Amino acid sequence: MFSDRYKLICDEVTELSHTPAGDLDSLRPMVASEYAPLLWSEAFGQGGELDQAILARSAALKASLYAERAFVIVPIYMTSICEEQCLYCNFRGGNKGTGVERRRLTDDELEQEAVYLIEEKGHKVLELVYASDPRMRVDAMCRHVERLRRVLERHGGGLVGLSAESLEESDYRRLVDAGLCWSVLWQETYDKTRYAVLHPGRTKKTNFEYRLETYERMLAAGMEQVGVGVLSGLADWRRDWAMLMLHEEYLKQHYGRGATILGTPRLNPAPGAIFQESPYTLTRQEFLATVALHNLFSPTTAPFVSTRENWDVCVELARGGGCLFTLNCSTAPGGYSLQRGGCQFTSGSYDAPIYSSRLKSEGLEPVFSWKAEDLSPDYRPDAAVCGGAEKR
Ligand code: SF4
Repeated sequence: MFSDRYKLICDEVTELSHTPAGDLDSLRPMVASEYAPLLWSEAFGQGGELDQAILARSAALKASLYAERAFVIVPIYMTSICEEQCLYCNFRGGNKGTGVERRRLTDDELEQEAVYLIEEKGHKVLELVYASDPRMRVDAMCRHVERLRRVLERHGGGLVGLSAESLEESDYRRLVDAGLCWSVLWQETYDKTRYAVLHPGRTKKTNFEYRLETYERMLAAGMEQVGVGVLSGLADWRRDWAMLMLHEEYLKQHYGRGATILGTPRLNPAPGAIFQESPYTLTRQEFLATVALHNLFSPTTAPFVSTRENWDVCVELARGGGCLFTLNCSTAPGGYSLQRGGCQFTSGSYDAPIYSSRLKSEGLEPVFSWKAEDLSPDYRPDAAVCGGAEKR
């Protein structure tokens, strides 16, 4: 398990942080040890020639693989009732602060929200999102997946994804059988000490190793589309992204396949969060350069463009296509047709009918009806823009 190698990999990252970075042309995709040193290059994230080269290569490589297509998704929050205590989140248990409204959707309300998003906004790919609600565990999740599948089938088909707490392998298998297409989970941070500070208490999420092993349980369960990521800004982001790349390389080596989705959440303190100021904040330029660097490292992993960001940043993250792009976004259960309030964090909501046109004017093609296979086109590293042979 990756957790067994965690300490060794932490040491490797420390060594990589002092290793001179190679020339961009010489880097081989999915070889984390070749990409990670760039994160510590003096010029990285400063907007100069290095960043421009990384961003241009990323956009060209993505365009060559995905022809500027941005795969549209919409989240449906099922519950804001949570027993975890993440210091950066509005939904943490017991928080009665600004913007917190506790609610869980009924199955009929879920269907109402889905029908509205499909019929009024044109969505075909729906992501179920759950806080850690003791009354919404895997039984409920399977029921919700099946319900959404039926709704989508009545409307010509579509996909259902999941963002939820870390689950058992048998739970993921049940969800796959129920028709789930993908599952994403963010490690938050790979810094174990920092993780403990940010996740106090004795709840499930406080088990760092259990969370670290989640992707392996997803893959072992037969989940085809797995989403990985860190919440950038919680800890030293250079170390977190280097650890993430090494983790992805490990998954690929041990399971023959790895992540197909890359979370790109950047810390945007929620109005009622305890953790408001971070010494590890990434600048816009550092953030864009980091995601673009990851695109070169793993070209067929789709960045999940987050509506935590303003529109301009979303568009920059999507350059070339090959990303999941969130249109419409409410982090409140019932935040669409039911018009319920509250939020997990501050987010933009880019209304699909309006912002589809804006994406087009940026040279991107919003695709509402897409298939899981669209995320994984054939990729021959030797023919790609950022050259080099695939790792042997
Ligand atoms: S981040 Fe998730 S698990 Fe943590 S408090 Fe918020 S909703 Fe709960």
